[in-house]
Amino acid sequence: MSDFTLTTARETSANHLMVSLDEVQAQQIQLIRNFSHELRTPLTLVYGYMQSIYRRNENLTDLQKNALEIAMFEMKHTIQLLQESLDLARLDCHAICLRREPVPLHGLISEAIAIFQQVKEREIVVESQQSNISVLADADRLQQVLLRLMDNAVKYSDTAITIRLEKSEDFVAISICDRGCGIDLQDQPNIFNPFYRVDRSRNRDTGGAGLGLAIAKVLVEGMGGTLNVYSQIGEGSIFKIILHSSVSCD
Ligand code: ADP
Repeated sequence: MSDFTLTTARETSANHLMVSLDEVQAQQIQLIRNFSHELRTPLTLVYGYMQSIYRRNENLTDLQKNALEIAMFEMKHTIQLLQESLDLARLDCHAICLRREPVPLHGLISEAIAIFQQVKEREIVVESQQSNISVLADADRLQQVLLRLMDNAVKYSDTAITIRLEKSEDFVAISICDRGCGIDLQDQPNIFNPFYRVDRSRNRDTGGAGLGLAIAKVLVEGMGGTLNVYSQIGEGSIFKIILHSSVSCD
């Protein structure tokens, strides 16, 4: 067999392997999607019934109330996990088309902070050299990413959070900085993988299912940007989003 024939045969089998791996991955995503969708609907209904029993039934004993509270907490956590799995599966299937429109950043960040501070109390400082920075992004999705990163910064630290904006000619960097526990160097490449949590005991008091950063990364990349982490144990973490800048529209 000539070298040429051998190379072509290798390339063909490599291509077949890649196609079948793609098919397996697509089937897995479809399975997660169907599974999450089928479970989420009935569980949301059950959760609603539990809430109404808890709120309206005045004859519940303390023991019954306590049992219901635990069941509702677990149910809420499971529904959130299913919702996040569904989001991730949808994004992986490219079913969500992300817009890239000029978004004035200061307005978006102020809105995100206001929404966040309705739920959690923490000082959030915005640092920026310029006041009229705009990025090319999907405003709703970018806000979703910022809320996730702020939520993590608050969960894994105790002091004020800083959001730093830096603009170069073509790009804008948005850094969400905390002075919390930090992340070990060996864990840093993995934290963007679905279901990865540094706390392997999967303590419910802090983290969720380990899907938040995976979703955030897919969303940022869907807007043509990047999301990276810079962190040191005991010093804190910086999650840096880089997006294309747009002509200012403030
Ligand atoms: P989770 O819902 O568990 O927070 P994420 O995908 O948002 O899932 O984060 C994955 C893991 O990365 C977390 O379990 C946590 O260990 C680590 N992590 C994320 N953000 C921070 C942060 N700001 N400081 C320290 N660790 C973090």
